Amino acid sequence: MKAFEKNIRKVEPYVPGEQPQRKVMKLNTNENPYPPAPNVAKVLRGMDTDAFRRYPDPACSGLVKELAEFYGVAEDQVFVGVGSDDVLAMCFLTFFNSEKPILFPDITYSFYKVWADLYRIPYRCPELDENFRLVKEDYFQENGGIIFPNPNAPTAIYESLDTVEEIIRRNQDVIVIVDEAYVDFAGRSALELIDRYDNLIVVQTFSKARSMAGMRIGYAISNPLLIRYLNDAKYSFNSYTMNQTSLICGVEALKDRAYFEECIRKLIETRTWTAGELRKLGFQMTDSGANFLFITHQEYDAQELFEALKAHDIYVRHWNSKRIEQYLRVTIGTREEMEAFVAFLKDYMKK
Ligand code: PMP
Repeated sequence: MKAFEKNIRKVEPYVPGEQPQRKVMKLNTNENPYPPAPNVAKVLRGMDTDAFRRYPDPACSGLVKELAEFYGVAEDQVFVGVGSDDVLAMCFLTFFNSEKPILFPDITYSFYKVWADLYRIPYRCPELDENFRLVKEDYFQENGGIIFPNPNAPTAIYESLDTVEEIIRRNQDVIVIVDEAYVDFAGRSALELIDRYDNLIVVQTFSKARSMAGMRIGYAISNPLLIRYLNDAKYSFNSYTMNQTSLICGVEALKDRAYFEECIRKLIETRTWTAGELRKLGFQMTDSGANFLFITHQEYDAQELFEALKAHDIYVRHWNSKRIEQYLRVTIGTREEMEAFVAFLKDYMKK
């Protein structure tokens, strides 16, 4: 071992779903099958490249203003970053500095563990119950901060705002981050609680309901004090600067509320249809509040099914990890894609 090895922070890397560069049916990373709002394409086509000559606005003022208007909050309550991954990473760095362990569920977005390991934040992971639901009492013990997604990933389960509020209320001495990457497909957002709790940060993204994963736009909404701490940290960290194109496109996407709502409506309708078809084929699943389904079948091995789907260029997600190795996570695509997915399964089961 080289001498410097001992000073390297080693983490078990997060392995994202595959991003094949040829055309496949891509139901593995919860992207939106519909294009971004039409205005985004229009603004890109007409873009004055002179804008690229200049550095982007580090305060992301245009996008911050548009987000504040969209959510009915003040501009100093909004923080923008390069995808919610980076916003979350910035939150970990800024707010989770206690000696006490932070808490997040044992089955959840696996990036949390990577960040905690990288930033040397101690953590504990309370187990979800037998139905993959959060056990709220586990979050009433002493801790150094809390983070959980709602809906959770990959389980798709949405916990009620009452449960979320109780966790926030019982932990007012620490920061509670609610990661709402998928909330637009679920129900009420914890944003409703922002004015009541000064320890709450809500993080959302343009990657799912707004069809802009490739643009890398995420944001946090909280009270002005916590947002200021995030901005103070960001300004000294240039890699967190948003690029000019994403800032401009993000503003355009937000302006078209009708398109956003229509995309969500279509995806929820397709989710309901797909879930019904899969149940007819004997699949079991959690109730989904997200743009994906978390499914299992008693008679078919998930790994084998995953491989068979992949051999037919249908990409879904599978993990070889405890408790969920017999599950697949399937992103909701267009109705046509889901029909092809179901047709494949019917064929597979005939054999
Ligand atoms: N949180 C959760 C729960 C997610 O599943 C994801 C994306 N897979 C993210 C955050 C990050 O999304 P992005 O960085 O694209 O905003």
